Amino acid sequence: MSLRLLVSDFHTEGNVETCPRCKATMHEVTRIAPLQQEPGLIAYECPRCSYLTSVFLPAGGEPT
Ligand SMILES: [Zn+2]
Repeated sequence: MSLRLLVSDFHTEGNVETCPRCKATMHEVTRIAPLQQEPGLIAYECPRCSYLTSVFLPAGGEPT
């Protein structure tokens, strides 16, 4: 139970990504909005160690 909570917390906290190397909060550098049938993408860069990562946004995302 508590493990499941922890995992979902870790993964779905808004659009904030944490650097896996130095645990700094990563900055969003670019964002491609998802289309109805194509996934979008958000790229993040760590301000401390310049680590780069990207996260896919599901296609047809909810209109918020
Ligand atoms: Zn870093």
